[in-house]
Amino acid sequence: MVRETKFYDLLEVPPTASEADLKKAYRKKALRLHPDKGGDPELFKEVTHAYEILSDPDKRHVYDARGEAGLSEQGGMGGMDPQDLFSQLFGGGNGFFGGGGPSRGGPRKTKDLVHRVHVTLEDLYKGKTTKLALTRNRICSKCKGKGGKEGAVRSCHVCSGRGIKVTLRQMGPMIQQIQSPCDECSGSGEIINAKDRCTQCKGKKVLPEKKFLEVHIDKGMKGGQTVTFHGESDESPTAEPGDVVIVVEEKSHERFKRQENDLIIEVEVDLLKALGGGQFAIKHLDDRALIVKLEPGEIVKHGDLKVIHGQGMPSQRHHEPGDMYVRLTVKFPDSLDPSVIPKLEAALPPRTPVESFGKNIVLDEVSLDDVDTRSRGGMRDDPMDEDGDGEPRVQCAQQ
Ligand SMILES: [Zn+2]
Ligand SMILES: [Zn+2]
Repeated sequence: MVRETKFYDLLEVPPTASEADLKKAYRKKALRLHPDKGGDPELFKEVTHAYEILSDPDKRHVYDARGEAGLSEQGGMGGMDPQDLFSQLFGGGNGFFGGGGPSRGGPRKTKDLVHRVHVTLEDLYKGKTTKLALTRNRICSKCKGKGGKEGAVRSCHVCSGRGIKVTLRQMGPMIQQIQSPCDECSGSGEIINAKDRCTQCKGKKVLPEKKFLEVHIDKGMKGGQTVTFHGESDESPTAEPGDVVIVVEEKSHERFKRQENDLIIEVEVDLLKALGGGQFAIKHLDDRALIVKLEPGEIVKHGDLKVIHGQGMPSQRHHEPGDMYVRLTVKFPDSLDPSVIPKLEAALPPRTPVESFGKNIVLDEVSLDDVDTRSRGGMRDDPMDEDGDGEPRVQCAQQ
């Protein structure tokens, strides 16, 4: 009968779990909780500690009989770096995915190859297939990944073919186990005499090979999404090939902004269209242009936001379109012939009267001039931009 189940609970196994069950459970949890994969570092540490105890038959015995308290009474090996244990179990050492020397279990995978493709909004709207050339290692066809003739490959005598050397480091009361690749065989665990090496791969067991991948950019994909080619990464005689992962990056568009499945565009209309109606066109992301009619008598105000339903980006799953938001700006003419003003006065609401003041307020007539933008860039409010040339920010009209 076990006294506590906390460590078993952390690994989500029953107290009757075998060593293999424990290892499998830890592997599953650790892969999910690993901080490199965005997992919670604290929980990862706890789970690792639980596995560290339960995978050691002596410690497991103590824990089963007397619980966690029993273990701390025992003292001894305290904190092993969870990262170290993780690396020991799954290989690695150079980051999360594969790399490193041979491991002591679990199917290892070679590093994923990550490529970024920059895709235009047009391509994300219509969908596209691009070809991507990449070079990755394949098992040498001549030696079938052995690196040399039959029998030429010998186990490394320094590390006994394990590919790793273990050093113990004393840290206060604790002893830490450190593993590193064997220097003699560079972590391969094998030694091949120069004359027996495969002539095609020079004993490397793998050869670089170029391959073209067809990457399907689905309609409506978003930046940051990935396309995975399983098992297309490097082949290795000691590990399963990892994946090629294509990361889609959305290029910024000169006219449209995208917000999820909606598009946003700014359209400038002239004053006559804004007041008297008319049409404007929006070139879409495919081979269409949208013709938009402004009804006469309905006035467009500067900055108005309108929507064209169903003309946004397609959703990826069912290709349901989002909307297109149109921010309207009004372009005013620079000047107007004064003789037409009576016509405007007849058409537009009357001018708002000037505010009137009490008798004690002196009315001072001044002129309104253009701001000299060359000298100061207008009236922007920039506390960092202290006057350097002694020129006033705004050319004041004073007599
Ligand atoms: Zn070869
Ligand atoms: Zn060795």
